[in-house]
Amino acid sequence: MIPTNMTDPSPRSIVFDLGKVLLDFDYRIAAHALSTERGPAPEEIMRHFGSAPLLSRYETGLMTTAQFFEETRKITGYAGSKEEFAAAFGDIFTPIHSMIDLHEQLRQHGFQTWIFSNTNELAVQHIRTKYPFFANFDGYVLSYEQKSMKPDSGIYDVVEKMTGCRSAEILYIDDRLENIEAGAARGWRVILQETPEKTLAQVQAMGLLR
Ligand SMILES: [Mg+2]
Repeated sequence: MIPTNMTDPSPRSIVFDLGKVLLDFDYRIAAHALSTERGPAPEEIMRHFGSAPLLSRYETGLMTTAQFFEETRKITGYAGSKEEFAAAFGDIFTPIHSMIDLHEQLRQHGFQTWIFSNTNELAVQHIRTKYPFFANFDGYVLSYEQKSMKPDSGIYDVVEKMTGCRSAEILYIDDRLENIEAGAARGWRVILQETPEKTLAQVQAMGLLR
């Protein structure tokens, strides 16, 4: 039997999730920064940042950054300025260097690369300022701009439209199974990122770095 990757065309567009693929993140850092003596404990704040409605509404573009700031201030009793809040909320990332290197190599091999992320304006502003690699993509499909979150099909349509690619022309890397499954259902090639090492090995096995 011929493996499918020998009959499919090579991917032209490589679509990267951001969080836990290129940048690690930890909302506990923000929760600690926003926690005050009289306000709720970091654990309480975390409930609003986890899978809770507040962050989800913000990342779906249903509330502006100003509204998100106001809501968070009400919940936490945070007394700092909007700028201090932005710094505390944005500074939760750690670069995954081997994946940032892999992205650079794929660009050198001529692939178009794209960011496909459930995220928010404050995070993206922070990442743009702090991580130069983030400028080196052909385009960005961001949930808060598209008003749609992975794994909803609408935002996958946007990826196909923006890249001009379909099915096996797209290679998609994400750490969340439900997101990957939605891509695979469209015939995209997919890599579920478990560790950066495993992702790298799979990209090499596809022959993309020859
Ligand atoms: Mg992720």
